[in-house]
Amino acid sequence: MSRNIILNSVLMVIALSLSITLLSLYNLRNAGIKSAIHNAVSISEAVKSGLTSYMVNDNMHQVGTFIQSVSNMRNVDKLWLARSEYVNKQFGHVRDIPRDDIDKKVLNSGKMYYEIDESITKTTVRVTIPYNAVADKGINCLKCHNVEQGTTLGAISLVLDINTLKEIGIESIYIVSLFILLTIIFFLIYNKKYIMPYFKLYELFKNSISNAIQGNFEKISPPKELSMDIIHLTREYNNLLEIFKDTTDDIDKKLQVYTGYKTSTMRRNPLKESKFIVDNLSNLYQYKKQIELDSTLEEIYTRLKEVMQNRFGLKNFTFMEIDSTKQKMRKVAQSGESFYCEPTIKNNPELCRCARTNQDVVSIKFQNSCQYYENKDKYYYCINFDIAKNIYLIVHFTCNTVEELNSLKEKVIFIKSYLKETTPVIEVKLLMAALKESAFKDSLTGLYNRKFLEEHSKKLLPQIKRENGDIGVLMLDMDHFKAVNDEYGHNIGDKVLKELAKILEDTVRESDIVIRYGGEEFIVLLINVKSEEAALNVASKIAQRVRENEIDIYAGTKLKKTVSIGLSMYPKDSNNLDTVIKNADIALYEAKNSGRDNVKRFKEEQVSSIDLF
Ligand code: GH3
Ligand code: MG
Ligand code: MG
Repeated sequence: MSRNIILNSVLMVIALSLSITLLSLYNLRNAGIKSAIHNAVSISEAVKSGLTSYMVNDNMHQVGTFIQSVSNMRNVDKLWLARSEYVNKQFGHVRDIPRDDIDKKVLNSGKMYYEIDESITKTTVRVTIPYNAVADKGINCLKCHNVEQGTTLGAISLVLDINTLKEIGIESIYIVSLFILLTIIFFLIYNKKYIMPYFKLYELFKNSISNAIQGNFEKISPPKELSMDIIHLTREYNNLLEIFKDTTDDIDKKLQVYTGYKTSTMRRNPLKESKFIVDNLSNLYQYKKQIELDSTLEEIYTRLKEVMQNRFGLKNFTFMEIDSTKQKMRKVAQSGESFYCEPTIKNNPELCRCARTNQDVVSIKFQNSCQYYENKDKYYYCINFDIAKNIYLIVHFTCNTVEELNSLKEKVIFIKSYLKETTPVIEVKLLMAALKESAFKDSLTGLYNRKFLEEHSKKLLPQIKRENGDIGVLMLDMDHFKAVNDEYGHNIGDKVLKELAKILEDTVRESDIVIRYGGEEFIVLLINVKSEEAALNVASKIAQRVRENEIDIYAGTKLKKTVSIGLSMYPKDSNNLDTVIKNADIALYEAKNSGRDNVKRFKEEQVSSIDLF
C-alpha cells in the first residue's frame, strides 16, 4: 500500500508540474502573440504617420526607403503595403496590389486580421491592419482622399518573428523538468526518512488488529524512527492488547466450566464467541426456568422439541425413554421422520447401542456403528442422557446428508447443555408420577386401590357417557377367608389374596380395571362391556378359575378357595357409580346368602330384603 501511495504522489508531482509548465507555455505563447500584435499595431501607426507625412509633404518617392528601413527592424520578417481600389482610382495609377486573400479581406472589411504560423524551427505572426479614412483635427484623410470617413484606404501587413518567446518557453521546460526531478528526489528522501516508518506502523497495526479479531493477541514493536508520541501510543495499544487477552482468556476459562466449549481452539473472534456463549447460556437459563414451571412431562418434552426445531434448526429427531430394568421403551416426542431402528428397539430396548454403552452413537461412512439402523441412505446421531438410575433419555437425530450431520456435530455440545438441564426436571416428574402411582396402588397385590377408583372415576365416567358405553361392576369377596388366616396364618392368607388378584387380572381385558376395594374384597370394572350377559359370563369365569385354582400351602398341601360375586350395571342400574357399587355389594350379599361360590345380578327387590344385622 505504501508503495502505491509513493508512486501516486510522484505521479501527482509530475502531473502537477507538467500542467503548470503547459499552462505557463500557453500563457507565454498568448502573451507573445498579443505583444506581436501590439508591436504590429505600433509599427503600422508609425508607418501610417510616416506615409501621411510623406504624402502631405509630397515626398512619396521616398516612401520605399522608409518602408525598407521599417522592414529592417528587429523581429520584422516582412512588411508590405496594399492599396485600396479607391486610392488607385483617385490617383490614377495602380500600385501596392494586395498580395493575398488576407490583404483583400482586410481591405474589404476594414478590420484587423492576424494569423500564426508555427513550425518546429520557427513561429511567426502575420498581422494585417487596415488604414481607415479618419477626419480628426490632427489627421484629416478626407482633405486629400475623395472618400467617406471610415473607408479603407489601404492596409499594412507585417510578419513578425516571435521565436525568442519560444526559446524562453523551452528554457522554462528545462527549468521545470529540473525542478520536478529535484522535487521527486527530495520527496523520496523525505518519504524514506519520515513517511515510510508511519506506513510500516500502519501495516503493523493492521496485521495486529486482524490477528486480534482471530483471537491472536500479538504485540507490535514500532519502527525506531517514529516520534515519541507515536511510540507512546503503540505502548498503550500493547497494554490494551494484554488486558484484552487476559480478559478473554479468563472469560473463556469461566465459560468452559458451564459449557465444556473451548473458544480459543476455534480460532474465532473471542468476543463474538463469548457473546455467542453468553447468549446461549441466557437462553438456556430461560429454558430451565420455563421447564421448571411446566406441570407435565409432555409439556417438558414439547418444549425440548421446540428448542431442537427453532433454536438448532433440526427437523428429524425422536426422544425416547428407556427403562433398562423393565426393558421398556417409550417414545416421548417425535419430529419429522421416524427413527430407523424403531422396529428392533421398540420390542428389544436392550439392543439400543446408545443406551447400552452410554456413549454417543454416530453413523460413519461405509460402516455401521449401529446395526439396527435400517435406512442405509441416511445418517444418524444418538445421544444418551441419564434421567435416573437405569432410566435413559435417548435423543436420536436423522440427517439426510453428511453436511447436515457435520453441522449437527457442531451443535451437539449445546444440545447436550439443554439435555443436561432437562433430565433432572424429567427425573423429578417421573418420581412424582411414580409416587402418585404408588399412592393409587395396593402394595400387597399391585392392584389399584379404592383411592384410585375415586380419582379415576372423575375422568372415566364422562368418557363412558360420551361413548354411550356400559360398565359392568363386579364386587367380589373370598368365601370363608377368615378361616385361611386362622388355620394357616396371615402369610398364607396374603398368598391367597395375591393369587386371587392374578386370576382377576388374567381373566379380564387389559382395558378393564381391577381394584382391591378392602381386605379380601375386590371390584372389577368391565369397561364398555357388551351386555349384562357378557358381564355375568366374565364373573362366572372368574368364579370358575378361582374354584379350580390350587394354592400351594406347603409341601404337598394344596388349598382351594371360592369367591362370591355380585354384579350391577352402570348406568342401567344407576347414574351414580357409588350407588352401582353399593348395588353390586347387595348382590354379593345375596350370593353369600345363596350358599357362596356363585354370581348374583343385582335386583331392585334385593334392597328391601337386606338384613343388615
Ligand atoms: P365370608 O364367606 O362371609 O366372606 O367369610 P369370611 O371369613 O371371608 O368373612 P370376613 O369377610 O368377615 O373375613 C375377612 C377376613 O379377611 C378378616 C381379615 O382378617 C382378613 N383380611 C383382611 N385383609 C387381609 C389381608 O390383607 N391379609 C390377610 N391375610 N387377611 C386379611
Ligand atoms: Mg369380606
Ligand atoms: Mg369373605
